[in-house]
Amino acid sequence: MILKLIIFAVAGLFIYKFLGGKLPTLGRKSPHEKKLDEDTLVECEKCGTYVTVKESIIINGKYYCDECAD
Ligand SMILES: [Zn+2]
Repeated sequence: MILKLIIFAVAGLFIYKFLGGKLPTLGRKSPHEKKLDEDTLVECEKCGTYVTVKESIIINGKYYCDECAD
């Protein structure tokens, strides 16, 4: 009987961890699913300005702001 409870507890914990320690939200993806959200701030490689991924320009895998990309 006790063993059964432990198995349930471990299974529950595993599911909880699998969901990223959060309860699933409907209609919205977890921010952990994508490594970089388009609103994530990244530092410009040249001037150090923080720009969102959406606004940045990626050159050779590095992020640059609009001004430095030219
Ligand atoms: Zn820059």
